[in-house]
Amino acid sequence: MASLSSADWLDLLDSSHGLPPPLRACALLDRVWQAEPGWAASLPLGQRDRQLLELQQALFGPQLELLAICPRCGESLELALQVPELMVPEQTSGSAEALTLELDGRLLRCRLPDSRDLWDAAQQADEGQARALLMARCLQLSEQDQAEAAAPLALSEEAVQRLSAALSDADPQAHTELALQCPACEHGWSEGFDIASHLLSALASWSERCLDQVHLLARAYGWSEAQVLALSPGRRARYLERVLA
Ligand SMILES: [Zn+2]
Repeated sequence: MASLSSADWLDLLDSSHGLPPPLRACALLDRVWQAEPGWAASLPLGQRDRQLLELQQALFGPQLELLAICPRCGESLELALQVPELMVPEQTSGSAEALTLELDGRLLRCRLPDSRDLWDAAQQADEGQARALLMARCLQLSEQDQAEAAAPLALSEEAVQRLSAALSDADPQAHTELALQCPACEHGWSEGFDIASHLLSALASWSERCLDQVHLLARAYGWSEAQVLALSPGRRARYLERVLA
């Protein structure tokens, strides 16, 4: 993982600003892993999320803070999670990039969906079209399958359900559920956790703090943005103490 400077991070957040959140998170991974643009968007979701958890830990440490609201009484819960606890052991997570299933009497190969697939599916007009797009992307039909079946994607409802369950089981890191209990009313519920949106929001707060520092130090000392950002975070904090004293 490349270690980026504060200026690099601010540039990266600017340049990825117009992307939808899941693809923006992927653009960050492409940059820190010095990969071709589009690399992270083509990873199975669980592999992408594992990389994002590692990036979260490298940038902000192993503790991750979350706020949840009890759906029954409205109480706010502050949660402190440890990044390693959110990681599914690697051998069970997304290790099968492709799987073979018998569906409607045919042996079909399919691959796990990636961020680009999910985003494109989410842009479809309705659930049926979204599902058809995912099937078309993920089912890897052999030439024989394609030749034999006039409408190879017309799977039965039961086959679609089984395929969807198999893809989900094959990539447990792709869907993290937190078991929560309200301390006020003892209501228990589960809530999905999305590391992509969590990391993007942590970076958005960080960039605001960083610009505040630039603003205060540039004004106090007449330094340029580049000069302020070239200081280490520790050194910036020591000057800020003096400015604010
Ligand atoms: Zn409650």
